[in-house]
Amino acid sequence: MSATTQITLRTAVVLPFVMIFIITIGVIIAVQKNSYEEMVVDISDKQLSSLTDNVNLELSKFLNEPFQASLALSHSIGFNQLYQLGDTKAIENYFLTSFSHLYQSIPQLDVIGFGGEGAEYVGFRKEPNNGYTLMVQDETTQQKLVIYRGQHVGQDIRSVIEGYDPRIRPWYAPVAKSLKPMWSSIYANADERQEITLSALTPVFYDQDFQGVVVTDVKIDTFNSFLSSQQKQTNAVIYIVDDKQRLVAHSTGGSVVSWGTPLSDKGERLLATESANPIVKANAEYSLSHNFYSQGEIQRFSQDIENERYFNHFTPFIDEHGLKWYIGVAISESDLLGKLPESQRDSWILGMTASLIGIALGLFAFNRIVAPITSTAAAAKHLAKGDWDSHMPKPGNIYETTMLVYAFNEMANNLKASFRALRSQLLYDSLTNLYSREGLIDTCDKMPNLNGSLLLLGIDKFRDINDSLGHYKGDQLLVIISQRLTSLFSDDHYIARIGGDEFAIYSPQEQSEEELLLAASRIKQMFASPFIMDQESIVVKVSIGIVESGPDFNMTLWLRNGSIALSNAKQEIANISFYRPEMADISRKRTLMVSKIQDAIERKEFIPFYQPLVDLNSGEVIGAEALARWLSPSSGLVPPLEFIPIAEESGLIGAIGEQILLQACNDTVEGMREGKWDKDFHMHVNLSVNQLSQPDFISTLQRILATSTLEPNNLTLEITESRIVDNDPVTIKNMQAIRDLGVHIAIDDFGTGYSSLAYLHKLPFDCLKIDRTFVEKLSPQDLDTSIVAAIVNMTRGMKVSLVAEGIETSDQAKLLNQLNCPQGQGFLYSRPVPYGEWPTDLVNMK
Ligand code: C2E
Ligand code: MG
Ligand code: MG
Repeated sequence: MSATTQITLRTAVVLPFVMIFIITIGVIIAVQKNSYEEMVVDISDKQLSSLTDNVNLELSKFLNEPFQASLALSHSIGFNQLYQLGDTKAIENYFLTSFSHLYQSIPQLDVIGFGGEGAEYVGFRKEPNNGYTLMVQDETTQQKLVIYRGQHVGQDIRSVIEGYDPRIRPWYAPVAKSLKPMWSSIYANADERQEITLSALTPVFYDQDFQGVVVTDVKIDTFNSFLSSQQKQTNAVIYIVDDKQRLVAHSTGGSVVSWGTPLSDKGERLLATESANPIVKANAEYSLSHNFYSQGEIQRFSQDIENERYFNHFTPFIDEHGLKWYIGVAISESDLLGKLPESQRDSWILGMTASLIGIALGLFAFNRIVAPITSTAAAAKHLAKGDWDSHMPKPGNIYETTMLVYAFNEMANNLKASFRALRSQLLYDSLTNLYSREGLIDTCDKMPNLNGSLLLLGIDKFRDINDSLGHYKGDQLLVIISQRLTSLFSDDHYIARIGGDEFAIYSPQEQSEEELLLAASRIKQMFASPFIMDQESIVVKVSIGIVESGPDFNMTLWLRNGSIALSNAKQEIANISFYRPEMADISRKRTLMVSKIQDAIERKEFIPFYQPLVDLNSGEVIGAEALARWLSPSSGLVPPLEFIPIAEESGLIGAIGEQILLQACNDTVEGMREGKWDKDFHMHVNLSVNQLSQPDFISTLQRILATSTLEPNNLTLEITESRIVDNDPVTIKNMQAIRDLGVHIAIDDFGTGYSSLAYLHKLPFDCLKIDRTFVEKLSPQDLDTSIVAAIVNMTRGMKVSLVAEGIETSDQAKLLNQLNCPQGQGFLYSRPVPYGEWPTDLVNMK
C-alpha cells in the first residue's frame, strides 16, 4: 500500500453525502428558526396589541359609565334643586329611582351617594340580592349615619355610625376644592365590605353655588372578572397598575389588597412586584427596572419565566379625568402559538429520524453495493496468498459490480486451472507419470505420520547409457524401468522419479531390515536381466540407498538421507546401503571439503610431486610420475586420495588436473633444459576419466602442450583401468585423439578392473602399469603362476611398455626383473618429491 492516506469507498461516497445532508439540514433549521422568530414576534405583537386595545376599550367603558352616571346625577340634583340643607329626602328618592331604573345595568356601579355642604349624606349601595341598602345622615337621623337593612327609612337598621362627616372623606374634599369632576384615588371602602373602590366624583352646583359632591363608586374588583374572562379566552395574563406601581386589577384571581399589614387595619394595595402571580411579578420587575413608568408609550419585551418564553406589552392608559394607569399583558409562546412550537419540534424529530433512517438505509444499500467489491478484493488477497480454495465473491444486484465479480471469477478460475495444471506438472513426472520429487514430498508430508521406509534407487552411469543410446532411447529406458518398478511394488507404495536417473519408493508400512534388504535385492534382480531395446540389449546396474526411519512430516529430509545412503551404496560392492546418521556427517564434511577445494584451486595450492620411473634392467631413471599434492596453508600437505575422489564427484577434478598437467609439462621442459632429465624422458601425468570424457579435453591438452613447449612424445597420460567405461564413445574417441597427438597413454592400476582383460584390445594405449597389489603378492615360489607373469606374457606380442608399481623392496625388484618386467616405480627408488628435491643419485639395483 502506498504511503498516501487511504479511505474506503464507502467513506468516499457516504461522507460528502452526509456532509451535504448536515449542511442542508443546518441551513433549513437556521432559516426556519429565523422566520419562526419573526413570525412569533409578529404574531405576539398583533395578538397583544389587539388584546390591549380590547382591554383599553373595555376599561374606558367600565370607567366611563359610572362617571357619566355621576355627572348626570350631580347635574340633576343641581338643576332640580334637590338639595335642601339638613334634608336629603328628595335626593334619596331621586337616587333610588335612578339607581333602580337607570343604572341597574351598570354592574360595576356599587354605590351612589351624595355628600352635602351641611355634612348630610345619602347613598345607596347595591346588594347582591339586587336590592339596595340605604344610608342616610341628616337631621332626621340626628346627624348620625344610619345604615338600613333595606332601601327605605324604617326600623330595620343595620348599623349606626356616629361622627361621620362626609366633607372630610377623601372623595369629598378634593372636589370641594377643585370644583371639578374627577376620579378619587383608589381606596378600600370604609364599610364592612371594604372593597377596593374607585369613585367618580362630581360637584353639585346650584347657580354657581357648590352644594356638595355626588360620588359613584366603582367596584374595581368587578373588572377583574372581565380580565379573567379575557385570560380564559386568550390565555394571556392581564394586569393593570397605577402610576405608583400598585395593582389595580388583574386577571389572575385573588385580591389586589394585602390585608393584615400590621401598620394599618386598612387594606393596602399590593405593589405589582409583590404579586403572587410569577408572571405579573416578573413583568412588574422588568417594567420597573426598565423605567417603563416614566415613558408614555407602549413597551414590548419578552422574558423567560419558568422555562417559558413570554411576550409582553406594557401600555399606558390615560383617562380624561386624570387616571394614569398601565395595562400589562403577557402571553406565553405556547399559548400564543398553541401546539405550533411543539408540533414544529415534533416535525423536526420526525424529519431527523426519517433522515437517520434514510442514512442507515443508504449505508445498508451502499454496503450491499460495495460488498461484491470488498469480497472480490478479499478473494484476490486469498488468491495472492495461494489459497486456491477460498470462496469466490458473489455478484450483487448492481450491473457493474456483477460484471466485476464475473470477470474476477473467470480470471480466478482460469488462474486456478493453470495453477492446477502447473501443479500437476510439478507433482508428476511427465515422462514416467510417476510422482516427481515435489509430488512425493507433497503427498508424504500430508500423511499423518511417516513411519514407513524409503528406498532410493540410482542407475549407475546413466549418463554414459544416455550418451551411447541417445536421449530418446534413454527416456524410453526410464519409462520401461518405471513400469517394472510399478509392477514390482503393490499399490500402497509411492513411487517417484526424483531425479534424472533416481527413483524413490516410499512404503508406508513399517518393515524390518531383512524385509528391506529383500525388497532391494528384488529390485536388483529385476535389473539383472538386460533390457532389450530395438534388438539391443542394455545392461543397467543400480545402487540402492535405504532409509528405515526419519522425522515425521519431512519427506525432504528422508530424501536427503536416502541420497546420502545411495551415494554410499555406489561405493559398496553390493551396491546397497542403509542410511546411518554418521553418513550425514561424512557428507557434510565432504560438502565442506568441496568448498575448500574450490578456494584451493583459485589460490593454485595444487602442485605435482614427482616419483621416478626406473628401467628395472639398467636401473636408469627413464621418467617420472607426477602425483598431485595439496599444499594447504591450514592442513599442510594433503595426499591425493583425500581430495581427488571428492574433486571427481563435484566436477572440480578438471581444474586440478589442468593445473597439475601444466606444471608437470613446464617442469619437464625445465628439467630437460637443465639437463636434469634426458631428451626421451617420459613424464607420466594422471588423468581422471571425468577429464577424459570432456569433449574439450583435447583442445585443453593441445593448449598446455603449446604453452609449455613440451614434445607430445615426452608425455604419458595415465588412466585408471577400473574407471574406463568401454562403451563410452567420448572416452574412447578422446583416448584415440590423445594418441593421435603423439601423447602416450598408460592404463593405470592394471588388473583391478575385473572385466579388463576381455576388452583390453579395444583400448588404445602404450603402457600398462601393473597394480601395486600384484607386486606385493610376488613370491619366488609361485612366480610363474603370478598375475604379473600372466600380464608379461599377455603383452609380449604387443608394442607396449610395462611398469610395475609399488616396488618397495629389492627382492620385489629382482623377482620383477626375473619375470622380464622392464620398468618399475616405488618407494625403493624414491618417494614422490617436489621438483626441486628431485634425487640425483638413485639406488641402482643392477
Ligand atoms: P597411482 O597413479 O597409481 O599412483 C601411484 C601411487 O602409489 C601414489 O600414491 C604413490 O605415492 C604410491 N606409491 C608409489 N610407490 C609406492 C610404494 O613402493 N609403496 C606404496 N605403498 N605406494 C607407492 P599417491 O601419490 O597417494 O596417489 C594415489 C593416487 O591418486 C594415484 O594412484 C592416482 O590414481 C591418483 N592421483 C595422484 N595424482 C593425480 C592427478 O594429478 N590426477 C589424477 N586424476 N589422479 C591422481
Ligand atoms: Mg598413476
Ligand atoms: Mg597406480
